[in-house]
Amino acid sequence: MSFVVAIDGPAGTGKGTVTKLLAEKTHLINIDTGAMYRCVTLECINKGISTSDEKAILEVLKEINIKLEHNDGKQIVLLNGKDVSEDIRSPKVDSEVAKFAALKIVRDKMTPLQRKMGEEENVIMEGRDIGTVVFPNADVKIFLDCSLEERANRRYKQNLEKGIETSYDEVLNSIIQRHKLETEREIAPLVKAEDAIVVDSTNMTIDEVVTKIESIINLKLKEKNND
Ligand code: C5P
Repeated sequence: MSFVVAIDGPAGTGKGTVTKLLAEKTHLINIDTGAMYRCVTLECINKGISTSDEKAILEVLKEINIKLEHNDGKQIVLLNGKDVSEDIRSPKVDSEVAKFAALKIVRDKMTPLQRKMGEEENVIMEGRDIGTVVFPNADVKIFLDCSLEERANRRYKQNLEKGIETSYDEVLNSIIQRHKLETEREIAPLVKAEDAIVVDSTNMTIDEVVTKIESIINLKLKEKNND
């Protein structure tokens, strides 16, 4: 039986950075499930497919091949053999992804793929529904939270660093809309698992968040090894 750490929470909480650092420290394999939904979205956008065209989306899902690789601490996302690590983070994908991720046909394809990844190796998996749907029996469940304003602030700064031109208000609106879609959708909505530990990162540095979660993981690993 593998060891699974589930890190769930909304966009802009620092989940990606925190998970990456924790994976390095704990030697768990980092699986970014958001990148998988982003790949599906990018492929549909590139093919001009809208969320209402389920037949065309099913065709995309039948053919899709997503690989998450890691090179020198950097995640590389391969979509049908092509490196799309940058393309999946574009504002266009940002604004469309929650709509594609809400579709049952999309989740029915992604969830089993994610389970398979977590069954084969010891993983730290980040997303929205890992502790509730994908791995309800995960060894460690963290719900990483943060205020809406601080989340927008962080995403805005990330965009500036990447040279993506957006105003703070645009980023805040996009985050508010995505949050609404994610928390109100029927299938696998973003909710805290009952037994998840909440870490609110609003007034914490990345290092503080990492240290806190790392100690929770190490404690659980110790317990498991003593079983
Ligand atoms: O984490 P990230 O912002 O990259 O995720 C992109 C989108 O994928 C989210 O806005 C969410 O709609 C969707 N997602 C999801 N379930 C997951 C991971 C991500 O619905 N487990």
